[in-house]
Amino acid sequence: MVRFEIIVLILYLAQKTSMRTSHLCFLLVIFCSCAVMLGQTSDMYIKAGQFYDSEKNVLLKEKAIRVVGSEIASIGAYNTIPENAEIIDLSDCTVLPGLIDAHTHVFFSQNAEADFAEHSIRTLVMESDALRTLRGAKRAKSYLDVGITSIKDLGNSGRFLDVALRDAITEGTTSGPRIFASGPILAAEGGQIYGVLHIHQHLIDGEYRIVKGMEDGATAVREHVNQGVDLIKICADNLPNRTHLSVNEMKSIVQTAHAYGITVTAHCVTDQSAWNAITAGVDGIEHGFNIADSTLALMAKKKVFLVPTENSRTYMETYARLVGNEGEDLDWIEFYMDEMTNRLKRAIAMDVSIVAGSDNYTDIGVSPGESSIDMLRAYSDAGMKPLDVLQSATYFPAQSLKMEKRIGQLSPGAFADIIAVKGDITADFLNTMDQLVFVMKNGEVHFREKD
Ligand SMILES: [Zn+2]
Repeated sequence: MVRFEIIVLILYLAQKTSMRTSHLCFLLVIFCSCAVMLGQTSDMYIKAGQFYDSEKNVLLKEKAIRVVGSEIASIGAYNTIPENAEIIDLSDCTVLPGLIDAHTHVFFSQNAEADFAEHSIRTLVMESDALRTLRGAKRAKSYLDVGITSIKDLGNSGRFLDVALRDAITEGTTSGPRIFASGPILAAEGGQIYGVLHIHQHLIDGEYRIVKGMEDGATAVREHVNQGVDLIKICADNLPNRTHLSVNEMKSIVQTAHAYGITVTAHCVTDQSAWNAITAGVDGIEHGFNIADSTLALMAKKKVFLVPTENSRTYMETYARLVGNEGEDLDWIEFYMDEMTNRLKRAIAMDVSIVAGSDNYTDIGVSPGESSIDMLRAYSDAGMKPLDVLQSATYFPAQSLKMEKRIGQLSPGAFADIIAVKGDITADFLNTMDQLVFVMKNGEVHFREKD
């Protein structure tokens, strides 16, 4: 706008002073050249000793990533770097796309021993939106600190506080990962907050969008679209609340969301609710703790992704200690690990796309970001190979958002969300992932370890 006004001013002065046409042209050319130079963002090159191609799921050697502004402009060999170019030398590192956590709740945090429903009510009644958002912003930033440059925040975020925080981060008001926001979870009567008396049910509306029938499901999606959500999250079941959405309600939700070009992912604990949600046409299943082989086969056939939100043995031992388990009380961890490993292996064997998600909302004494990165350890514990774990935290979650050209991979046209770790990622995956030395988001360096 300013440049346009200056051009108008030059033309005005030329007219007033009867400036010769050749002089006028000269002035305009000089001005336009300066404007172009000032507006140009400078190129930067990142030397990647090892380079992870998340689409092909392979490691390549010695690549130069050219970053212009907020995007990756090109990928080439080292010898494509011009002389005197600005270089970030990560030639002794493995360079990866920024990681994606496909299941977070940055607006909700409880202690290990706290009851989910009681804490939800406490949050709704005693935590203002302002305080909740500021706390959410701090939690969100901790994701960026560990190299998670995008998150799918799936509800328990009041009334669209996630959309507000997303916008504040996008405009640079506060620092954090890219947020893909679902807004309030669409659920049947009572949502997931069990034990609330009938006279207090209105409180639930502060956290969930209660769906009452097929037409209301479509209306709920339109309300969410109108508020600018990136995707829709539903609760196919509300356990331990007994209520659940019907297949027809879910169909109505899915059809409306798809008409607006956004995806629907479904929280499912029981196998029946997962089957119902898949039948209704959802794009993804969250948790799926009790999922049967027949349901996994249907998911593979319909290309529905699974977000297994398990934790590692290390995490579980910490959690158990915090809730006061001792001796034989700890036996459940073995059972849990067996179940988790078994289910993940069955899903992989059935060719279901695994999308990494932490579902982290419990304070175990570290930052939410540090706690969420545990998802990599969990999948590794369950036997997934290092590059497969990485693909589940980069390319597949990007694909689940239909954003694979923009996030989750290092390719021309993608956002420059780039991280680097030191060490041999295929031989010593977990320790290497702990050696984070570089985080860039949107072309800006967020963290770089000093040599
Ligand atoms: Zn969750």
